[in-house]
Amino acid sequence: MDLFEYQARDLFAKHDVPVLAGEVIDTPEAAREVTERLGGRAVVKAQVKVGGRGKAGGVKLASDPADAVAKAEAILGMDIKGHTVHKVMLAQTADIVDEYYVSFLLDRTNRTFLAMASVEGGVDIEEVAATKPEALAKVAVDAVDGVTEAKAREIVEAAKFPAEIADQVVAALQKLWDVFVKEDALLVEVNPLVKTGDGRIVALDGKVSLDANAEFRQPDHAALEDKAAADPLEAAAKAKNLNYVKLDGQVGIIGNGAGLVMSTLDVVAYAGEKHSGVKPANFLDIGGGASAEVMANGLEIILGDPDVRSVFVNVFGGITSCDAVANGIVQALELLKSKGEEVNKPLVVRLDGNNAELGRKILTDAAHPLVQQVDTMDGAADKAAELAAAK
Ligand code: GDP
Ligand code: MN
Repeated sequence: MDLFEYQARDLFAKHDVPVLAGEVIDTPEAAREVTERLGGRAVVKAQVKVGGRGKAGGVKLASDPADAVAKAEAILGMDIKGHTVHKVMLAQTADIVDEYYVSFLLDRTNRTFLAMASVEGGVDIEEVAATKPEALAKVAVDAVDGVTEAKAREIVEAAKFPAEIADQVVAALQKLWDVFVKEDALLVEVNPLVKTGDGRIVALDGKVSLDANAEFRQPDHAALEDKAAADPLEAAAKAKNLNYVKLDGQVGIIGNGAGLVMSTLDVVAYAGEKHSGVKPANFLDIGGGASAEVMANGLEIILGDPDVRSVFVNVFGGITSCDAVANGIVQALELLKSKGEEVNKPLVVRLDGNNAELGRKILTDAAHPLVQQVDTMDGAADKAAELAAAK
């Protein structure tokens, strides 16, 4: 999960990384009071989860409270690279003497963590990396040892930070590493880290990406989610603990096991080429134990998607046998009916593997008018695509 700058700033403050005071608002008028609180001047910054806000006109200096209202008005509602600005942060102004870059990230290729640092910060760091790679220091960070004072000094020396600020940057790096570890982040980036006129080091812009796999031990992180931006179907699926991702096609997909569902998406996309280009509408893995309740929850989400025109249930019986899954489907349809939810989209079911014969018989006997069975994965994908195209 990527965070907004103001959320990153809050996490920095929590772990004693030096930052400037700031407040978030979503109406221009609120800028007046906040700017007064900040000492009469403020930097007005668009809060969107995309870089390059400065260049796009989303970062502006306001010289007084009235000016802050005008700047906030101009920035709120602005479109920055396809992201609409709904909030702005007003931050205390900084007297910037120099801009640097520092970050910590996961280095999958080398199976370690990586620190990157450059004294050429503020600008697009990708450009520095491309045109002047020697100006971007890269130092591996051992997961167990972490960023000790010695490691922080190694980073500072590799990036050639000026001697008079070395100690402050060393301290800031260790605090940023605290953010990275204690908040279970995958990325902590500061661009720019600045030197101010009075010689202080301050993190002026922060980008933090949190590891969703660590949610179970980070109860505070749920509050950081941008509920307004979340897809309503994905949010509903998440509330039901389903492994669901919304896609932009028309064939609803339910399967057991992430690998099977992934290949189902491919097979349906391929079949769709022959049927007016229909595509999978979602990824949904109901996992190993496909109980009636889980199946009902899954069907409810998928049938609630207005884009869905047909549903392909693709199950390979393993530990959970096909008869259990078939019973799950029958009960799920009854459950939805009893909840008053009309099932009016055709379901194509393919059962294979453990107890497939019995599972198929259960569905045949139930004779639900919207359910049809096809015994092969390719055949079923073709049928589901055909039905979606015909609707
Ligand atoms: P980004 O463009 O999305 O990375 O947004 P940043 O927060 O990094 O801001 C872009 C640039 O605006 C920075 O590199 C600074 O040069 C400038 N800037 C940001 N905050 C301040 C501030 O408080 N005072 C001054 N003078 N400039 C600022
Ligand atoms: Mn920046």
